[in-house]
Amino acid sequence: MKVRVPAKINLHLGVGPLRPDGYHELNTVYHAISLFDELTARRGDTLTLTMEGEGTGELELDESNLIIRAARALAARGRVPAYARLHLRKSIPLAGGLAGGSADAAAALIACDMLWGLGMSRDELAEVGAELGSDVPFLLHGGTALGTGHGEAVSPILARPTTWHWVVAIADGGLSTPAVYRELDRLRAASSPPEPLGGPDELMAAMRQRDPKVLGAALGNDLQPAALALRPQLADVLNAGQEAGAIAGLVSGSGPTCVFLAADANHAQRVAAGLTEAGVCRAAVTARGPQPGARVI
Ligand code: ATP
Repeated sequence: MKVRVPAKINLHLGVGPLRPDGYHELNTVYHAISLFDELTARRGDTLTLTMEGEGTGELELDESNLIIRAARALAARGRVPAYARLHLRKSIPLAGGLAGGSADAAAALIACDMLWGLGMSRDELAEVGAELGSDVPFLLHGGTALGTGHGEAVSPILARPTTWHWVVAIADGGLSTPAVYRELDRLRAASSPPEPLGGPDELMAAMRQRDPKVLGAALGNDLQPAALALRPQLADVLNAGQEAGAIAGLVSGSGPTCVFLAADANHAQRVAAGLTEAGVCRAAVTARGPQPGARVI
């Protein structure tokens, strides 16, 4: 059983005030792009996880790993023993603002549901997944979708199919998502807080026009000032993307990955080449969106 799962970017990330439960109220537009992790599940008589690729040697493969946690949560829900041999091929950078951990949890839910013959619906799996990470329900569904609550309540955006072309600038090292939220709270408590984005209506209207220039003007991320405050070099990445001719660029989620919108596949190649030449990131790769969520290949 092999499951492929995409990374996510946020075309719009509006962050509301901190709630009493410790989460921020979000309104976001999720978009799944063609940067994939792959999870293979085989029968076993215990639960084991091995990996290759991004983050190997750095990412713990023990009970703290979201793949193991997802498998255990699903086994408990389905009342079956959590037995599987899991192997992860990781391309989504760790702590990159691309929701790699949530993507892997989504892949584990799909793979183990099949392996154990549970036959749960995507909505049931999303319920199990929401307890593991805010982005898991979206990564089960994929496409482009509105996220509310703390991101876990997902409704698909029904737009005419349009492919958008992106360049993903992968940074050296990650940024801790909680640290970025804390920095945003700190900036907001200080005298001149960054203006909050508001709702996603403008972004959704822009998508319907299917014009990259219109979409580019509507992209926005409330976490960007906080990510830039913690990692000032990201300003150089954003500038380099602009100089390389990107239509627009922004920090992906909590960063430090930056994403750039291009007009078409050739343009994306040129922007990626410009970013590579500028030497401001570890790698610049092209990607397309939207992509389906976690699914068996
Ligand atoms: P998000 O955008 O959802 O905040 P991110 O892309 O910034 O996430 P992730 O790579 O999803 O960051 O993971 C952040 C942390 O989660 C990692 O540093 C790691 O400690 C933990 N983690 C647990 N399991 C996984 C996994 N399978 N893949 C990645 N990270 C994992």
